Amino acid sequence: MALKNMFHQKAFGGQDVKISLEISFMEAVQGCTKTVTFQTAVPCETCDGTGVPPGTRPETCRACRGSGMIFMQRGPFRLQSTCSQCGGSGKTVKEFCKSCKGDRVVKGSKTVRLDVIPGIEDNETLRIFRSGGADPEGNQPGDLYVTIKVREDPVFRREGPDIHVDAVISFTQAILGGTIQVPTLTGDVVLKVRQGTQHGQKVVLKGKGIKSRGSSLYGNQYVNFRVTIPMNLTHRQRMLIEEFAKEGQQGEQERTAAGASG
Ligand SMILES: [Zn+2]
Ligand SMILES: [Zn+2]
Repeated sequence: MALKNMFHQKAFGGQDVKISLEISFMEAVQGCTKTVTFQTAVPCETCDGTGVPPGTRPETCRACRGSGMIFMQRGPFRLQSTCSQCGGSGKTVKEFCKSCKGDRVVKGSKTVRLDVIPGIEDNETLRIFRSGGADPEGNQPGDLYVTIKVREDPVFRREGPDIHVDAVISFTQAILGGTIQVPTLTGDVVLKVRQGTQHGQKVVLKGKGIKSRGSSLYGNQYVNFRVTIPMNLTHRQRMLIEEFAKEGQQGEQERTAAGASG
């Protein structure tokens, strides 16, 4: 029996493995350490990666007498071909390891710990050298590629290093001003709502975004005001709003009149 590639010097290396890993929004922002388990080639434990049962010694191939080559005379030509008995290795064994059938590696599960860098973005791929499939030749495992999938957050949206959040305020808060609590990556902050804040108006919280990679700078957080209009009013609320509307019209007329006379 030929011992597959065992005595060949050329190293093909182990297989690269590609997997994906889902992490939360905050894990992506702050970085995290994760353990991933995946299926790939691992060294055969039964034969300790030798491909033959323990204690088995390879013998010199009888067909080629260890040269790995077979010579044949065909008329005037002397043909040379690789020995089919030993696959050109010049050595044979009586039997292979039953677990790996001589492959020296078997399919199994492998667990790798990986550090996810802070600020990683959705669909970025990390490459972890030599953490992929085991090398049958023994010394050149493949690489592990992990594509990061960042789960959406119900509160925070991200654009590069910047964070966007919506802040819902009532129409009275928008008109009169006040304070509201706004979530940031480092906890809630109290934000002043200016008198006369418009729907869709933005406030910038400088440096409250995500740290740019390879830089000490942080992005900004943008607070996007959304003004809610009540759908149902009590009788009294309706009266007050009607009063307000009348007052508004009068005020408008007075201002117009003043403008015309002035
Ligand atoms: Zn084995
Ligand atoms: Zn041979």
